[in-house]
Amino acid sequence: MPHIDSSVKLDFKDVLLRPKRSTLKSRNEVDLTRSFSFRNSKQMYTGIPIIAANMDTIGTFEMARVLSKFSLFTAVHKHYSLKQWEEFASQNPDCIQNLAVSSGIESFDFYKLKQILEAIPEVKYICLDVVNGYSEHFVEFVKDVRKCFPSHTIMAGNVVTGEMVEELILSGADIIKVGLGQGNLVLGGHWLPFINKHRWNMSLFLVFFSGSMCTTRTKTGVGYPQLSAVMECADAAHGLNGHIISDGGCSCPGDVAKAFGAGADFVMLGGMLAGHSESGGELIERNGKKYKLFYGMTSEVAMKKYGPAVTDYRASEGKTVEVPFKGGVQSTIQDILGGVRSTCTYVGAAKLKELSQRTTFIRVTQQANPIFSEES
Ligand code: 5GP
Repeated sequence: MPHIDSSVKLDFKDVLLRPKRSTLKSRNEVDLTRSFSFRNSKQMYTGIPIIAANMDTIGTFEMARVLSKFSLFTAVHKHYSLKQWEEFASQNPDCIQNLAVSSGIESFDFYKLKQILEAIPEVKYICLDVVNGYSEHFVEFVKDVRKCFPSHTIMAGNVVTGEMVEELILSGADIIKVGLGQGNLVLGGHWLPFINKHRWNMSLFLVFFSGSMCTTRTKTGVGYPQLSAVMECADAAHGLNGHIISDGGCSCPGDVAKAFGAGADFVMLGGMLAGHSESGGELIERNGKKYKLFYGMTSEVAMKKYGPAVTDYRASEGKTVEVPFKGGVQSTIQDILGGVRSTCTYVGAAKLKELSQRTTFIRVTQQANPIFSEES
């Protein structure tokens, strides 16, 4: 008989962090750098554990160049050629430590992955991303990649439950990508005037809609509220000395802080980094206003661009969104880092590492004052 799990599962929007007594005077005292030693690769990581998603609109070399200056990480999308990789690596040797090469599970993906890693041995991270992190085929693939690259750090996903996190870690992955049915917003054209009006802060808009617009949930009925997924998967991973990435569903700096508070070691961002000069996607100008295309890796746009190469990517069809152009990504990064630093100050965490230990979430029914949520 079908089973119903009646325990409460929550999204970022369902909670706020409770402030706590703190000795910190200013957010400048907060250290967001983390150091990890990975379970299977035995490699060390030091940096600010925020990752640009391996989507071709987000995980670009241009994005990596800027993010790396802030000690942030980029999962570079899998559509760059070996030649493009070699050129980038020779011109930007300082960025390499903050990059992962992405791969699907097709044999041509594996072949290209090997080529890149052999040509650029300084790249130490592999991001394995598939439609369904639950398939046996994927587990076998993770084992094969581990055999081939014993000392590379392997990110693998996506999954949302503890038992699969454990299986992937025991199969050789170091960091598990957690999230299903969170990413990629669907914005109809009729929302554009509103977004435009509040353009500096897409998050104001997204706060009300994140998750509910996701196509995986509507197309397949499958999903898991991200905050609960992160809490449960972090617990499973940490029990094995593994790590997790909270992937998708962040719509504002507060969500990034909540993901860390819930126990995520890394947070991966797509939409929040869309619409910038460094993002991929076409720049469109209409009525004197600029937009950038942001599309899911299984959207029609991606399908047309890459054909069958995207079919192993995500289960559902991603959507295509016109994001108001926001200029350079640097100010968005500063905004995110400033937000997370402030969170740490509010809960008394001098280091990002302490944030989850000092986190108490309170359930809420409202996130933000909705007074400006309608056009007037
Ligand atoms: P965001 O930060 O935009 O909420 O989520 C980014 C994540 O969405 C990516 O890291 C990836 O896991 C996921 N994603 C990328 N492309 C697609 C797609 O076409 N469909 C769906 N459902 N998810 C996608």
